[in-house]
Amino acid sequence: MSMKRKFKLKSGALKVLKILGVIIAICLVVLIVYRMNINTLKELGYSEKAANKILFSSKKAEVVLVGKSKTLNKAFESEEYKEKNFTSYSKIKYHKGQNLIKNINTLIKKGYNNEEINIILAHGTDKDVTTFSKKNKVRYLEEFYSYPFAKIRNYERYVKYMNESREDEETSVIYVNMDLDKENYKNPIKVKEFSYDMLVNKHRVLSSKFIPDQLVKISTKYASEKNLKGNKVAVLSAEKMIDAAKKEGQNLIINSAYRSYKDQAEIVDTYQKLYGDSYIEKYVLRPGFSEHQTGLGFDIGSKDSKIFIESSAYKWMESNCHKFGFIHRFKTTYEDITGIKSEAWHYRYVGKKIAKYCYNNDMSLEEYYARKIDK
Ligand code: ZN
Repeated sequence: MSMKRKFKLKSGALKVLKILGVIIAICLVVLIVYRMNINTLKELGYSEKAANKILFSSKKAEVVLVGKSKTLNKAFESEEYKEKNFTSYSKIKYHKGQNLIKNINTLIKKGYNNEEINIILAHGTDKDVTTFSKKNKVRYLEEFYSYPFAKIRNYERYVKYMNESREDEETSVIYVNMDLDKENYKNPIKVKEFSYDMLVNKHRVLSSKFIPDQLVKISTKYASEKNLKGNKVAVLSAEKMIDAAKKEGQNLIINSAYRSYKDQAEIVDTYQKLYGDSYIEKYVLRPGFSEHQTGLGFDIGSKDSKIFIESSAYKWMESNCHKFGFIHRFKTTYEDITGIKSEAWHYRYVGKKIAKYCYNNDMSLEEYYARKIDK
């Protein structure tokens, strides 16, 4: 009797073990197949998180057909993933930004097609696109955004400028990017970093604390007074230029260079007392808005002539200064852009590459900045 019970128990336990074994085997197979699928997706460029979601939503076959897509990967990683936008995700170029998928969803909802969404994403930051996507659908995207420097956040300004000025799309984009649709000194952009291609003008201001890198004194061999200062690289280039001019019989001299915020404020004050407000508005830049504060702007004169613009030294500068990294900053032909009456004497160091480009294309620094630097 006891023997029989023991045997029965044994056979029962065996049965359980067998079932357990089968279950474990099935689990292992499922796990292996699952891992293989995950690996296939990972090899295609999808993350572990995205791959899991792809498998759970049974989209593996479709994803494999699409192949690698950073946007689709991001969509599957995101809480914002929408099944009905699957094809769009796979066709829209990836852009950095935490709101990418949410923005794509909103833009699709507003009626934009994939091509238009690609245009929008390529011309603005994540934040710009988030703001833009909240507006009603706009027209003429292709007309403005065939230019790489066109910005999505300026869309309304482009349209307004084009309607009012009757200029073409490219001009409207460039002029708005240069802030020429804005009033002088009104809500200026704050310029914080020193660089040789920095732009300071009536729309771009330096703080009272801004001091340029590597300020050095200019020797009186090159300057009309003691204690003139400028950025080291710019000063060395100016000295080289003056030496080169001298060899060709032209006697150049630096009359003014770095001016601090306080210096400019004092100039404004002096001229204001002498000639009044309208003179200031016309001829003197407000503190923070003068290029002299960058340490890269120099007023240059001729030792032999009182009227620089009529001198041979001026002619020499016109054809040679770019070779030393300088540009003639305030030409008559740039007055509409710079908002500053022609100044024959004011030169700006920008480095040889930009100086050469501006010289060859007769382009103001503002326009160069809008086309090539500003993102
Ligand atoms: Zn000047």
